[in-house]
Amino acid sequence: MSLIIENIAKIKSRIKNAAEFSGRNINEIKLLLATKTVSASSIITAMETGETLIGENKVQELIEKAEKLKAIPHQTHFIGHLQSNKIKEVIKFADCIQSVDRIELADKLQKRLEFDNKSIDVFIQVNTSYEESKFGISPEMALDFALQVKQLDRLNIKGLMTIGLFSAETEQVRKCFRLLKAIQNKMLQKDISVNELSMGMSNDLETAIEEGATIIRVGTAIFGQRLYPDNYYWNEKNSPQV
Ligand SMILES: *Cc1c(COP(=O)(O)O)cnc(C)c1O
Repeated sequence: MSLIIENIAKIKSRIKNAAEFSGRNINEIKLLLATKTVSASSIITAMETGETLIGENKVQELIEKAEKLKAIPHQTHFIGHLQSNKIKEVIKFADCIQSVDRIELADKLQKRLEFDNKSIDVFIQVNTSYEESKFGISPEMALDFALQVKQLDRLNIKGLMTIGLFSAETEQVRKCFRLLKAIQNKMLQKDISVNELSMGMSNDLETAIEEGATIIRVGTAIFGQRLYPDNYYWNEKNSPQV
């Protein structure tokens, strides 16, 4: 059996255990395959297990793989930092953008979507760890920002996304996820439809599930180590030259 398939089985059992531990219904928790740097053929192997949701970080990879995966029914979320000059392509190839984090970006998305006469699902990315290296709106500004995005009729707000603190201290990581949940509650009170919480990755998915994740984004634990550190994929400004 392929390693990818074995790894997905392991992730599924981690999800099941975490759901049981926290008394949650396993059907509330979706697995998103974080497929940055992963080849289309490996993604196809993963999809043979029945998985249908992938997440890409880079526009170029999104486009290349969309072509190769088009025969297979699936959904692609954009989970990387989105530069305004790449909006056109992302709208064309992604089903959802999980990384909406600033009003200039939201406004430009709205304009382009009007031009294309379509709409798109979005998540608001919140920087719950307050780390400078990470993108996302600050927790303090998140509610006002979401109210502004709500005015943009081509953006369908689906939820909130965050990347937890990178730390071996579970309780520090948990604080990030709790904060996202608290922000979600405030937004729901204002009728902002943030029903999904996209949080938790290979190392912290159990904690995220305990704190209410509805989408976990898993890469390394399924596809193996990537060549570059994550900030390469997150932050184009700090990218090493490749
Ligand atoms: C790469 C990535 C993931 C997956 O991280 P792993 O630690 O490899 O599971 C999740 N979310 C985002 C935004 C990513 O860039």
